[in-house]
Amino acid sequence: MAYVVSERCINCKFTSCVQVCPVDCFHEGPNCVVIDPDVCISCGACEPVCPTNAIFEQEDLPAEFKVSIKLNDDLSKIWPSITETKEALPEAEKWKRATGKLQYLDKKAA
Ligand code: SF4
Repeated sequence: MAYVVSERCINCKFTSCVQVCPVDCFHEGPNCVVIDPDVCISCGACEPVCPTNAIFEQEDLPAEFKVSIKLNDDLSKIWPSITETKEALPEAEKWKRATGKLQYLDKKAA
């Protein structure tokens, strides 16, 4: 079962996860990243390196983040691949502990 990036990534996008993924399954939007569930091999390497604790194995996703399963699947098909860690968004530290971030998701292709 694939891993999933939850809304906790929104407006942070630290991208620490990208560097440790052995199969390059991350895709980048304007203000967060998602995992392509068809490529993820569920190695778990990305989960502990995320500064916002945004990544969960699908079956461990808290109920309020279940919507992210479909979002990761859909958006990974239209957003470009990201394979190198880059600088976080300018206000990442401010947004790190914010909740209710789904409303800020920007679905445009980056
Ligand atoms: Fe990549 Fe492994 Fe994370 Fe899946 S669980 S996104 S394969 S690092």
